[in-house]
Amino acid sequence: MSTPTGAPAADPRDLLRLDGLLDDEERLLRDTVRRFVADRVLPEVGAWFEEGTFPTRELAPALGELGLLGMHLDGYGCAGASATAYGLACLELEAGDSGARSFVSVQGSLAMFPIWRFGSEEQKQEWLPRMAAGEVIGCFGLTEPDSGSDPGAMRTRARRDGADWVLDGTKMWITNGSVADVAVVWARTDGGVHGFLVPTDTPGFAARDIPRKLSLRASVTSELVLDGVRLPDSARLPEVHSLRGPLSCLDEARFGILFGAAGAARACYEAALDYAVQREQFGVPIASFQLTQRKLVEMVVRVQKATLLALHLARLKDEGLLAPAQVSFGKMDNVREALWVAREARSVLGANGITLEYPVIRHMNNLESVVTYEGTNEVHTLVLGQTITGIDAFAPR
Ligand SMILES: Cc1cc2nc3c(=O)[nH]c(=O)nc-3n(C[C@H](O)[C@H](O)[C@H](O)COP(=O)(O)OP(=O)(O)OC[C@H]3O[C@@H](n4cnc5c(N)ncnc54)[C@H](O)[C@@H]3O)c2cc1C
Repeated sequence: MSTPTGAPAADPRDLLRLDGLLDDEERLLRDTVRRFVADRVLPEVGAWFEEGTFPTRELAPALGELGLLGMHLDGYGCAGASATAYGLACLELEAGDSGARSFVSVQGSLAMFPIWRFGSEEQKQEWLPRMAAGEVIGCFGLTEPDSGSDPGAMRTRARRDGADWVLDGTKMWITNGSVADVAVVWARTDGGVHGFLVPTDTPGFAARDIPRKLSLRASVTSELVLDGVRLPDSARLPEVHSLRGPLSCLDEARFGILFGAAGAARACYEAALDYAVQREQFGVPIASFQLTQRKLVEMVVRVQKATLLALHLARLKDEGLLAPAQVSFGKMDNVREALWVAREARSVLGANGITLEYPVIRHMNNLESVVTYEGTNEVHTLVLGQTITGIDAFAPR
């Protein structure tokens, strides 16, 4: 379509023609994941959210078949895709629901990545191919009841006992916890922070789901209890000895989140746009009101800017140039903008905006978790503050 001047018309769903920034392979991947979400997630996600369930065992092999689990890793059955492709998959999954994207982020970036990056060859052979196929589910245990933003205060301990290690402690808010076959557990030792691969049927390991969540309901979130869990040294990730290890995993996962947030925001904007042109009040579509148009315009500008930022960061990552502070920039800004878009979209839908008949309040509630996990908005602000001033403001002096 073209305008009266002959210039091409702008597409309300891709106002800046960002599609043109993708190559054919990236578009194919994006369309494949979008179709999967339309077929397998959207028809049922309202019910999962309402019931507080996620069909992990059903969806994991399907996601594995699509090559989405650990997709940015090489070898061991992983797809070896680019960072851009991984980001686009996260965007489309989270346009469905943050729970679906969280599952893929945790499996690929928080459970598989540390094995791939810090594991022994035997550990990689044992776990990665089955995790890539979605036959084995992983989780990542860093947060504890008394240490969230400050993981250096963790209390979980691993002590040597002969040739073995014995783990004691509690991990909190662990995605996939009660459905996992293997938990990557971070624990303090006399020689620094180490990661352990804990098969979840090991005696002394227990996982309990956290009840009464009103956010990320279509996602499993659990407490892990480790009570004298005895493991051989071969369960310890040999190549990591400090908090830098788990923090590098979080960096991988945050990269997916900054794309995912753009997806959730897009879904809310599109729901509001569709609703506003159909819903009539005072004899005209509510999209006719200047106040509604302003909301829609503010939304589309934020959605497009978030997508553009995500693509820019992905290109940097593919060139090996992405710094952790830049990931903080993307996570902080894209999630807060997505929350803004979700809240504004909810208002456009009026009373219908508070039901699960529409996706908006589900995304809005989910984003309250997304803004908290993988570094809160405040923590990423402090990371950026430290980057631009050189001064660490994390703890009062
Ligand atoms: C649904 C969900 C799933 C999760 N999945 C996982 C998972 O799979 N694995 C895992 O290990 N963890 C997971 N988490 C935990 C998550 O990473 C933590 O909740 C997060 O790190 C924040 O920690 P906290 O909740 O203890 O908050 P706190 O750290 O107690 O923070 C509370 C408030 O204080 C602010 N604050 C803290 N420190 C500072 C500071 N220095 N300056 C200014 N403000 C500050 C925070 O920004 C926040 O606003 C999940 C959380 C949720 C909600």
